[in-house]
This record gives sequence, structure tokens and C-alpha cells, in this order.
Amino acid sequence: MTDKLNWDELDFSYTEVPFRWRAYWKDGEWYKAGLETDPQLPIREAAPIVNYGQGVFEGNKAYGTKDGRVVLFRPDEFAKRLNRGARRLGMPEVPEEEFIRACKEVVKANRDFVPPHGHNGAAMFIRPMLLGVGDHIQVSAAEEYLFTIYVTPVGPLYKSGFKPHDFVVDSEHDRVAADGNGDVKATANYASTLATANKVRKSGYADVVYLDPATHTKIDELSAANFFGIEKGTNKFVTPLSNTVLPSITKKSLLHLAEHNLGLEVEEGDVFIDDLDRFEEAGAMGNAAVISPMGSLTYNGNKHVFYSETEVGPVSQKLYNELMGIQFGDIEAPEGWVVDVDED
Ligand SMILES: *Cc1c(COP(=O)(O)O)cnc(C)c1O
Repeated sequence: MTDKLNWDELDFSYTEVPFRWRAYWKDGEWYKAGLETDPQLPIREAAPIVNYGQGVFEGNKAYGTKDGRVVLFRPDEFAKRLNRGARRLGMPEVPEEEFIRACKEVVKANRDFVPPHGHNGAAMFIRPMLLGVGDHIQVSAAEEYLFTIYVTPVGPLYKSGFKPHDFVVDSEHDRVAADGNGDVKATANYASTLATANKVRKSGYADVVYLDPATHTKIDELSAANFFGIEKGTNKFVTPLSNTVLPSITKKSLLHLAEHNLGLEVEEGDVFIDDLDRFEEAGAMGNAAVISPMGSLTYNGNKHVFYSETEVGPVSQKLYNELMGIQFGDIEAPEGWVVDVDED
């Protein structure tokens, strides 16, 4: 089956693989945790996930190293974020060790589908989901839950990979409400962004940039990636600080690497949409986006070009090399960031 996969041509789309992980929760406990083969979810029509969007999800990856191992990147951080969302939505938590064990087991079971090292950043995408299930038509939290993880090999999120792309601000719509749950990866937060994403892609943009919903003067983030800029003159790594931004684990990692490994100053703060001249380079960052350089950003019909529309800026290149080097095991990682799926 894997003979059919051309690792270099993978894009960010779904390929069915043999195994997925499932665990079920009822009456205060998790039961029947293990691998399953049916890609169809066992979900009732009266389930809260279907009726009211009671669900949270994650998106992490497994990477093939040069010496043939398969590693996870900071799985503990993804578990913590899922559980923060679970608490917010009144759902039971998935114990962190169970989350990590489940990621390891489902990746190992589908090992033939993990892209080998050295194919333009191709990796195995991991999609954990915690869903309110069972029959529960009242608008209140479910009494039964399903934790499920599917995996699928992927290439770059934005077509043609690590080169500058064009982005556009959506000044009509907000990603989330100002008083909403924008800082958790809640299923329900995404539905209202899908039409906009389609519209901008049709117009040739890679993705949407959303402004802060309270004042519409500051950059918040993209559909599924955070924003960074490299300040002119100082090379400072700047990223928005806002309670309507989803706290990206890639961002958290890059803040650390920029400061400690690359010797850059870093800042989390306001990024005004009228002040793009402040930046020499800019980009999107996320587990799926990795680092995606912004060639341009269009706002109210005005196209602002950053470093170049064709060349990747030197600081973005360094950040990309450092992050990818660590994720694929080529560069020594900070303690605990990289976890071998074969280790207990
Ligand atoms: C998942 C996601 C990100 C990226 O977070 P990572 O932890 O780096 O993958 C950024 N913004 C939104 C809205 C997201 O859903």
C-alpha cells in the first residue's frame, strides 16, 4: 500500500491508514482503550459533538529521523492544551501519560506510513480529538465521551512548501468572538472561519489573517497558525499577545529557540495592522504551517510586501532550519522536547 505514496508529492490532505486509537468514557472512567480499524466513528445522532460542537482537538506530528527512528515533538504540551480545552468545555481530561502512550501506539501501528527523513518536511500528522457523545439533547455537557486519534502522512500546509506566500486580512469577520474561547482548540471555533478560508484561497491567497475582535487594529493570527514578524534593524522576533489567539506550541518553541539558540531578542505584544513597515520579515507558524514566510499581506486592498515575494528572508530561514532540525532529530533538542515512539 505504501508503494503508492510518493513522499515528495504529499500535500496537506487525508490518506486513510490501517489503524486509529479510541478510548471511551462513561460513569467517571475511561475504558476499552486501544487500536481500532474502522475509520467510521461510533457517534449517535443525538451526540453533543454533532448537535452543539462539544469537542476539542489537537494537531501534532511524528517525524522520521535520519537513523530510522520515529519521534514525537513535545507531546506533553499538546496533551496539556487538549486538557485545558476539556476543562473549559466541561469534558473529562485525558491523562497526559495516556495521551502520549496513545500517540506512540497509533504511530507505531501505522509505521509504514510515517514519511522517512528527508522529504521536504513530510511527516505523520496526528489528530487527537475528545468528543461529547451518547444521546444527550439538552444543551449541557455530555455524559459519555470518546477520545480518538487518527494519523495520516502529510506534506506542506501551504502549496509548494517553504517559500513566500501571499496572505490577506479579513476585515469583515473575526476568527472568534472577543469573549469566546479563542485560546482553546475547540471544534466549534472553526466552523465560522471555513467560508472565509475558501474565499481567500479562491482568490489566490495562502491563508487569512484575522485582527483582534475587540478593536480590529491589531493582528491576532491566521486560520490555524500564529503570526510572527522580524523587526527591522533589531532582528527582534515579535509575536502578538492576545487572549483571542490560540497559544501555538510552535510559537512557544520558537520563542525559546530564537532567544536561546539564535541569540535574538523576543517580544510578545501588540502588532498593529497599520504598522507593518516595522517588520523586515514576517510569517506564519504552527505545527501544520511549520514556518511559512509571508511574501505579502493585503489589507483593505493594499498589498504590503515584506522581505521579498520570491526569496525567504535570512532570519525566517534560520528559524526554519533550527525548528525542523530539532523536530527531525538532526539538531540536539532542549530536554524533553523530542520523544521516541519506541521508548516506554
Ligand atoms: C493549532 C492552531 C495553531 C498552531 O498551534 P500549534 O500548537 O503550533 O500547532 C494556531 N492557531 C490556531 C487557530 C490553531 O488552531
